[in-house]
Amino acid sequence: PSQGYYTRRGGVGESGDFITSPEISQVFGELIGVWYISEWMAMGKPSTFQLVELGPGRGTLTEDILRVFKQLASVLSKCDVSVHLVEVSPKLSEIQAVMLTGGKVQPNPEDESAYMKGISKTGIPIFWYRDIQDVPSGYSFYLAHEFFDALPIHKFQQRTEKGWREVLVDINPEVPDQLRFVLSPSRTPATQNFIQPEETRDHVEVCPEAGVIVQRLASRIEKDGGAALVADYGHDGTKTDTFRGFRNHKLHDVLSAPGTADLTADVDFSYLRKMAQGKTATLGPVKQREFLKNMGIDLRLQVLLQNSGDTATREQLLHSYDMLMNPEKMGDCFNFFALLPHHRLVHPDKKDKPESKSPLPPVAGFNELLLK
Ligand code: SAH
Repeated sequence: PSQGYYTRRGGVGESGDFITSPEISQVFGELIGVWYISEWMAMGKPSTFQLVELGPGRGTLTEDILRVFKQLASVLSKCDVSVHLVEVSPKLSEIQAVMLTGGKVQPNPEDESAYMKGISKTGIPIFWYRDIQDVPSGYSFYLAHEFFDALPIHKFQQRTEKGWREVLVDINPEVPDQLRFVLSPSRTPATQNFIQPEETRDHVEVCPEAGVIVQRLASRIEKDGGAALVADYGHDGTKTDTFRGFRNHKLHDVLSAPGTADLTADVDFSYLRKMAQGKTATLGPVKQREFLKNMGIDLRLQVLLQNSGDTATREQLLHSYDMLMNPEKMGDCFNFFALLPHHRLVHPDKKDKPESKSPLPPVAGFNELLLK
């Protein structure tokens, strides 16, 4: 809490340690904003919803989504929208407050579970929390972009003759200011609790905190309705050794100068799917370039190119499109994954009367975009 990376540094953005898609292109957040509107419409336009973002970074993604909500104000006109940000970093919450409200925020409001509140430049109330459990219940659209990869993992190795062992972090007695990995001599509580019985990999990384958060999201969606969109680099239960550090946009040894570099591990979407425990349906993971293509990124790029007069802006638009979509860059390694109520994908009474209902609208992004 006091010496951790996000408390002390938290360097998202060009001048920081790593750059994220919303910081690269406004189109990214706009298409996510469209996804929420599309789901809101498909779910029968409920009269109120909360947009809940986990780990909002600099607030850029929320800003881009709120711009879409403003542009589609006539569609959303009768809907009561509020924004709820779950953020542990005091530094980043300040940056978010400036970005979203112009800095006009009230700390520790008496009547709320939030630690800060304000009003967006577009007139929408915004609240900040340290934990998802503090966010009031209610119909909610959740967003976690590059959030789960930031949570701590346990690492394990299978020693054939001895069973699972946990990889632990120790002080290196030979080199000052340097840590080292050691293998637990016997089983640990974590080896007993966090490895799936059907696991076939011989090295595995498990993020139990991500599991707990997904369970909470799934329970909340099952009870109050809504949907969750998770986007991150990750795999579907195949990778083994992905824990790494970034500092000033370069790979950094995770064992040196702790607290000064962003530590990250790929998100295991197969684990998230298991942790939803069937309370919601899940979709994906699909690759970022497929999701954004299905969301109409090519059309949006065309419009922006047509509207921009100068060559530098056009070049910037094409460059950022390439960063997001190129399979060698972010297009293939980033994935989109969603939690949705079961009734969003299958009519509740489909079993009894399969022919009597009109088909449910497809979920945008996860299905090919068909222009009629
Ligand atoms: N979503 C943003 C930022 C990603 S960086 C973007 O795409 O640009 C990760 C974010 O998660 C930061 O805002 C960080 O402060 C926050 N974070 C990290 N650990 C957290 C935790 N345990 N609870 C809440 N937020 C956390």
